[in-house]
Amino acid sequence: MDDDAGRLGIHGVRLLDLLAGSGLLVALFDAGDVLRYANPAFRRIFGVEPGQAVGWAQMMRGNQDNPGGPLAHTDDFEKWLTAALSRRGKQPFRAFEVDLKDGRWLWITEVIEADGWMLTIAADVTYSAHAGQERQARLDRDIALRVARTDELTGTLNRRGILAALEDACVRLPAEGRGYALVLLDLDHFKLINDGHGHDAGDEVLRRFVRHAQSRMRPADFLGRYGGEEFLLVLPDTDAAQADALLARIRAGMPEIELPTTGARLTPGFSAGVIAVRQARLPREQLHAVDRALYRAKHAGRNCTVIGELEPVA
Ligand code: GH3
Ligand code: MG
Ligand code: MG
Repeated sequence: MDDDAGRLGIHGVRLLDLLAGSGLLVALFDAGDVLRYANPAFRRIFGVEPGQAVGWAQMMRGNQDNPGGPLAHTDDFEKWLTAALSRRGKQPFRAFEVDLKDGRWLWITEVIEADGWMLTIAADVTYSAHAGQERQARLDRDIALRVARTDELTGTLNRRGILAALEDACVRLPAEGRGYALVLLDLDHFKLINDGHGHDAGDEVLRRFVRHAQSRMRPADFLGRYGGEEFLLVLPDTDAAQADALLARIRAGMPEIELPTTGARLTPGFSAGVIAVRQARLPREQLHAVDRALYRAKHAGRNCTVIGELEPVA
């Protein structure tokens, strides 16, 4: 963390002093979601030491037994984390409420620069005018919205969620002069896993695949379950070669998974189709192009990536 006077300048130091006195929680995360600055109020609640450059996911894992820390409403922490990571760091601005284990709650805002750095500011709103029924109605609405876009099995975005991300990307990014890569990937011979080891084994492979892929992606990237064992990735500011390299890294690092049913170990493979998008095009056209590329990858022998092209504008 860089909070020395030399780097911040005199007004920066004064700003941070005043923010500390205000009781606001302030934190800065870099493009890899590593904590680079946190004021004492933030450190106290999120259980981090001065100067500790911890990743957000690791910080939240560490908070599981922090009595004053944030409360994850879940009995499956890893799935909760997958769901949180599938939404975090992807919009220029976000605001939401978080419960603390001691009964208080925080109103958190996140602002993200185009280069991926994130400023988090949070205020304790336990005693604000928003308490009571109004708050409950708001929380219920937030949960309903989240559930509508979350894949129940893996915790990542579901088809509706990833298609919403694609629709947003294909309007917003080209308008800002930015491009993105779209990836459709499909696990290879997945039916054999189900047939040979049972449906629960297949489910475990899906969960582990999502966690692994997410661990190799940047916070700004989207991963959603498009269908059974098919996943769609939206990768802002990424060209086809960079997407191809990311998929190669996901493949190379794929862990060996011990199946819960038969105890067998296997490393799943996947085939993928990629396109790079620089101009606003209909999601339907983009999905058609990645689907064709995926089809070619399957026919080329599987466990590989094919870079496709959008049809020229008619
Ligand atoms: P390919 O390499 O050509 O993609 O072959 P495949 O066996 O992966 O593809 P296929 O489409 O023949 O089979 C996909 C299987 O995925 C069939 C379906 O039962 C299974 N499946 C879909 N959703 C789920 C799920 O949520 N859990 C489990 N365990 N299996 C699922
Ligand atoms: Mg398949
Ligand atoms: Mg399939």
